Amino acid sequence: MWSYKEIKEKMNENQFPVLVIGGGAAGMMAALFAARGGARVTLLEKNEKLGKKVYITGKGRCNVTNACESLDEFLSEVCRNPRFLYSALTQFMPSDMLSLLRDLGCETKIERGRRAFPVSDHASDVTKALEKGLIQVGVDIRLGAEVKRIATENQRAVGVELTNGKTLPASAVIVCTGGMSYPSTGSTGDGLKWARELNHPVSAILPSLVGLKTEEAWPAQLQGLTLKNICLTGYSCGKIIYSELGEMLFTHFGVSGPLAIELSAHLPETGKADVRLNLKPGLNREQLEQRLTKELSSAGKKQLSTVLQALLPMRFAALFPALCGLDGKTPCNQVTVGMRSALADALQALPLSIIGTRPLEEAIVTRGGVEVKGINPKTMESKLISGLYFAGETMDVDAHTGGYNLHIAWATGALAGKSAAQSREEK
Ligand SMILES: Cc1cc2nc3c(=O)[nH]c(=O)nc-3n(C[C@H](O)[C@H](O)[C@H](O)COP(=O)(O)OP(=O)(O)OC[C@H]3O[C@@H](n4cnc5c(N)ncnc54)[C@H](O)[C@@H]3O)c2cc1C
Repeated sequence: MWSYKEIKEKMNENQFPVLVIGGGAAGMMAALFAARGGARVTLLEKNEKLGKKVYITGKGRCNVTNACESLDEFLSEVCRNPRFLYSALTQFMPSDMLSLLRDLGCETKIERGRRAFPVSDHASDVTKALEKGLIQVGVDIRLGAEVKRIATENQRAVGVELTNGKTLPASAVIVCTGGMSYPSTGSTGDGLKWARELNHPVSAILPSLVGLKTEEAWPAQLQGLTLKNICLTGYSCGKIIYSELGEMLFTHFGVSGPLAIELSAHLPETGKADVRLNLKPGLNREQLEQRLTKELSSAGKKQLSTVLQALLPMRFAALFPALCGLDGKTPCNQVTVGMRSALADALQALPLSIIGTRPLEEAIVTRGGVEVKGINPKTMESKLISGLYFAGETMDVDAHTGGYNLHIAWATGALAGKSAAQSREEK
């Protein structure tokens, strides 16, 4: 391609741009901050538009960040490699993202759980605002530009080759190609492949924030039913891996909804776990027994499943006795102490066996990616190839729902862009 000497000469003349690969959340920020840092920037996106994944975030409303108050609070929501993000986050906190959007004409609002959304409730307004920012600073946005490989010379990134055969020289290359979830949005794992080719360690790629398959078939019978205010506890090898209060949804494959989705982020790589559902977490065992006794003793010959409707949604009440080994048609005045105890057990520790996750195609984020030990956390530059940077979901960092994943992309993108512009100046 180009000799190292030529590259150095051209770089000194600022002839070569910083190339940002991927026009998603991280890529738009990397391009914006590199250009604001004084670099000439070209943003390469293989889709016909920027931010295709941003467009579907937050059910089309884009939970753009989480307005949490401290860095520690943010880091406690990061599932993999939180400390690696320390530098990126201290330089670009959620309030910085909200200010940036405001400056670019996109007002935001804060909802339950400090989740921030554009006031318009349109994810497209976030991308529009960032696109406006990119145009303001003169970023050369190339759509339909698919990168095939990254060119290196003497352990330095010197450019890229596009799938149409064209080659583009670069003073720095920032890889923002995302993970592998929802590949229809363009995140097909290209950056992971290039990283492997360049001898960067890449950890196992798994779906996270995704629905869970159960061994039991009964959840399918309750498909579409949401349980609110329950406690879900997940165990692996006898140890608690997750325990939270919230909502869960039954589906044709098992379970989904906020609790199941968050549990998926904590599963071992086998994707297997034992779950206990506490359907009455507000009552202790004694209070629950008293409540059951009261309901059953006043019900006479009414069927057990009918009376359970006082404690559970109707469809669940019909199925529930069978899950405790009981007949729902049993008249309440024939329910024994042992049967009542079995009901109480199941109401507070209903077992489910998780046998795996739904596929990457349905996952909100990718777990795994370019291992952070190969990346400098202060700059996002590769420790193996100089002038090569990574940002966003392509790295082995992922978090809970609530705006944290997008914020990781914004913050690491901003840092990579800033660093690439700075290092070019220093040459
Ligand atoms: C359904 C859904 C809802 C979500 N909702 C939220 C939410 O509300 N809040 C939140 O915080 N997170 C949410 N997320 C997660 C969040 O969207 C991602 O973590 C974030 O978009 C990652 O940004 P990224 O820039 O790293 O990657 P991406 O957004 O995936 O962008 C990568 C870009 O690179 C491009 N690209 C890939 N390969 C090439 C190539 N070879 N050449 C050129 N371009 C290439 C792709 O086309 C793509 O545009 C959601 C995810 C999904 C799937």
